[in-house]
Amino acid sequence: MNRISNRVSAVTESATLAIDAKAKALKAAGEPVIGFGAGEPDFPTPPHIVAAAVAACQDPKNHKYTPAAGLPELRAAVAAKTTRDSGFEGLKANNVLITNGGKHAVATAFEVLLDPGDEAILPAPYWTTYPESIGLAGGVPVVVPTTAASGFRVTVDELEAARTPKTKALLLCSPSNPTGAVYRPEEVEAIGRWAVETGVWIITDEIYEHLVYGDARFVSVATAVPEVANQTLVVNGVAKTYAMTGWRVGWMIGPADVVAAAGNLQSHVTSNVCNVAQRAALAAVTGDLSAVEAMRAVYDRRRHIIVSMLQDMPGVICPEPEGAFYAFPSFEGVLGRTIRGQTPATTLDLTAIILEEAKVAVVPGEAFGAPGYVRFSYALSDDDLVEGVSRVGKLLAEAD
Ligand code: PMP
Repeated sequence: MNRISNRVSAVTESATLAIDAKAKALKAAGEPVIGFGAGEPDFPTPPHIVAAAVAACQDPKNHKYTPAAGLPELRAAVAAKTTRDSGFEGLKANNVLITNGGKHAVATAFEVLLDPGDEAILPAPYWTTYPESIGLAGGVPVVVPTTAASGFRVTVDELEAARTPKTKALLLCSPSNPTGAVYRPEEVEAIGRWAVETGVWIITDEIYEHLVYGDARFVSVATAVPEVANQTLVVNGVAKTYAMTGWRVGWMIGPADVVAAAGNLQSHVTSNVCNVAQRAALAAVTGDLSAVEAMRAVYDRRRHIIVSMLQDMPGVICPEPEGAFYAFPSFEGVLGRTIRGQTPATTLDLTAIILEEAKVAVVPGEAFGAPGYVRFSYALSDDDLVEGVSRVGKLLAEAD
């Protein structure tokens, strides 16, 4: 008998967190590492949110267990905020489950929908956690590749080609991690209609809903096609919008029966999310969006800087991201060339060389089902961003 279950031994470590940990360890050891690895805002959490948490600490009612599915007032506030921000109508507190971050909401969504062998369609490039989460729930990820030429947006024809009698769900992530792609309103609508016709559930990850740039506009499938609501789970959280990655509050929104079942699961797995963090999240989602807009404007400025610097590098092709805070350039043109005596055959090799030689942490496309690409988060200071990308440019200029 194996020491570790087959289910868990099949899981690979999160590449993004591993790279971030390596970068932080090198930095702690005195190396001048610049990290583009983690999808983590560099801003502190806005002060009114922190103040709500401080007050919550001092109130003994927050020192006790609370309902496993979340504080009733936070569940209601998330329902109201979702209608405010994405136009998803008719939500009540019992449509919302408060989870330990958006990542936990993703895991819960797959747990509650998939039976062993059920297939979940996963457009690639995908966030590195999705396939693991599908597998842990006993499901089978069916990866549908997309290309830069189509803006990394999957079409209904491609979805239909991937559908089988075992297809239970589709994972939709717009704005996307890692590509920054934002689906057009008519594309979202077409996908919603396809789901209604086929009965496929949609898990829509809307964690970057407020981070869109230029003409791009975020549209939720539940709003574009209201009939799909009964087979849709929305995943979201406070991490990216309010610079609250460490607080660990997210949520899953769905039909009341599915949320109740997920609440039962949660009552045996984690119980309630930390009350202090839930009170902070309550302040976040009931407050206005001015801090969010200020951060969005900064990301937009950095987006222009990083895209133009990457586009200037020979062998690198950088499509313009329209949302989230990632650039996802192709480094295919650099592979096979020799850099300081090493010849990277893959972006996995290349990113190791970049970390070693330029002290810059970036994530290889392999982590997202997209070899040949490299993900740069631009949620870091302007100075670090310019210095880090310049170092990569200088290193690549040595390639022959
Ligand atoms: N979804 C996507 C697409 C993400 O990029 C992330 C964070 N990297 C999450 C969900 C989860 O965020 P958290 O668990 O920090 O709320």
